[in-house]
Amino acid sequence: MHPALQLQLLNLRSPSWQRSGAAYKSLQWEDVAAALGMGQLPPIPLALARAKFCDDRHQGKVLLVLMTEQVLKLAEQESWRCRKAVLVKLAQLACHELLSAHHCKQCGGRGITRRGLSCSPCRGKGRIPMTTAARYRFAAIDKRNWDRRWNQRYEQVYSQLCEAENQLLGHLARQLNGRNTD
Ligand SMILES: [Zn+2]
Repeated sequence: MHPALQLQLLNLRSPSWQRSGAAYKSLQWEDVAAALGMGQLPPIPLALARAKFCDDRHQGKVLLVLMTEQVLKLAEQESWRCRKAVLVKLAQLACHELLSAHHCKQCGGRGITRRGLSCSPCRGKGRIPMTTAARYRFAAIDKRNWDRRWNQRYEQVYSQLCEAENQLLGHLARQLNGRNTD
């Protein structure tokens, strides 16, 4: 079994998994991998799934390319006037934050300790959000600029990625509950 996948399967206490119901308790990684291939999952949630659950570095790059396109489109729609490099950084930050940055180091993202107790640093969630300072440093934007306009813009970008993740979890829930209605 792929360790990263096993880790994710053990991370059943994260809020998004919990919402999907108790059916996950007996899941094997093969079930998850098979479910990804079923139905019509759009490119962003699919790349996200492979990068996140299968620890696939190439798919991480695919996700970044797709997200960069998405951010460039958003910037045009919203008439953000800035250099393209800033938008690329914003896409990188969103992918970084969703894929790796905020996994709780104490419990490895599982949300529970080895004794099966709720992990205290992350309060059982397995994730610790990035601080504002960590975000603007990553994006190479100064604090004043970040507070004034980029924080809000970043929220827009990041929420798109979260939406893709919800789409993915909804897809998995439908496929794994045996209702192939996707
Ligand atoms: Zn933790």
